[in-house]
Amino acid sequence: MNIHEYQAKELLAKHGIGVPDGHLATSVAEAVAAAEKLPGPLYVVKAQIHAGGRGKGKFKELGPDAKGGVRLAHSVDEVREDAGEMLGHTLVTKQTGDEGKEVQRLYVTDGVDIAQEYYLALLVDRASGRPAMVVSTEGGMDIEAVAEETPEKIVTITIDPLAGFTEADGRRAAEALRLEGDLAEACGKLCADLYEAFVANDCAMLEINPLVETGDGELLVLDTKMSFDSNAEFRHPEWEALRDTSEEDPMELEASKYDLAYIKLDGNIGCMVNGAGLAMATMDIIKLNGAFPANFCDVGGGADKEKVAAAFRIILSDPAVEGMLVNIFGGIMRCDTIAEGIISAAKEVGISVPLVVRLEGTNVEKGKAILAESDLKVVPADDLGDAARKIVAEVNKAG
Ligand code: ADP
Ligand code: MG
Repeated sequence: MNIHEYQAKELLAKHGIGVPDGHLATSVAEAVAAAEKLPGPLYVVKAQIHAGGRGKGKFKELGPDAKGGVRLAHSVDEVREDAGEMLGHTLVTKQTGDEGKEVQRLYVTDGVDIAQEYYLALLVDRASGRPAMVVSTEGGMDIEAVAEETPEKIVTITIDPLAGFTEADGRRAAEALRLEGDLAEACGKLCADLYEAFVANDCAMLEINPLVETGDGELLVLDTKMSFDSNAEFRHPEWEALRDTSEEDPMELEASKYDLAYIKLDGNIGCMVNGAGLAMATMDIIKLNGAFPANFCDVGGGADKEKVAAAFRIILSDPAVEGMLVNIFGGIMRCDTIAEGIISAAKEVGISVPLVVRLEGTNVEKGKAILAESDLKVVPADDLGDAARKIVAEVNKAG
């Protein structure tokens, strides 16, 4: 789950981390009021969307020479003008895709006198199975490009989760950023505070780009992207209020209401499965047969009729779906229950594309018999390979 920059900065400030003052605005009047609360004379108006690269982004509705999604304003009047140009318009950045994202929120912040920009990120490193801090002197730049062209400028510090972020880790970070004296000390403290915020908020990633050294020798977080590990949702009731559903895929959002794991993909075969492993295997074998999954919807272990119906609806509401493969293993759930669920769901939703069903597990014969006896047009499959071959053939035939 991703949150906006202004929300992330509020969370960081609670951990004693320095961020420029700023206020949220959803209208031009609010943007002006926000600027009036700041000392000036330099303000920055920042589009709040769940994507980076805003500064270099372009607004679809404005000409190619118009300013981007992060704008320096030298007066309250300029803030008013910028807010008017940005709100309600579509910002296209390297990370939004061509369709861009409509700007509905602005963050109006203090303009900072920047002496130096750095890069810093905390993430969970799968290779070491530990949190890692990644730092670079090349702040404010596209870090992927830095990694490609000058990888030696990126330093990774692996953190021992039992020891936490140590003073030695802090010294390594300061050294990598070539900071000395008071700044090195401030850097060590900042890194420790960031690590504390990272852990306390169950972050999947916390990226600061840029971290800046100001003209008067202070370290400030100028931009940040924070994302949470959804597995920890149960212990963060406060996340609900931070969620911006307008940033989420509407079908993934609908699926989450039914506790279904739905992921949109690029192909034309919709997949209903139970269990993540089966989902991966199903997608692999579809690809092996020369087609691509349009999505997968994991109904989980204890799916009931309602869940199966919701999964059908969600999968079929995607116009890219030209065929559907149901691949379910009846472990705790019995295959006859699943078969009944499929029939009533398919009837309720009305299915106009070929449907291949592969059932395996408890009461499989009963389940197959129920499907065979129904008037639903189901192509039964015996195993995974058979199911994939059949759905690909059906889709090719229809197309
Ligand atoms: P994005 O990464 O989405 O482009 P940033 O917040 O990093 O957005 O802004 C892009 C650049 O704009 C920064 O690298 C920095 O140079 C400048 N900038 C951002 N915020 C401020 C600020 N408060 N004061 C001065 N310059 C800023
Ligand atoms: Mg940035």
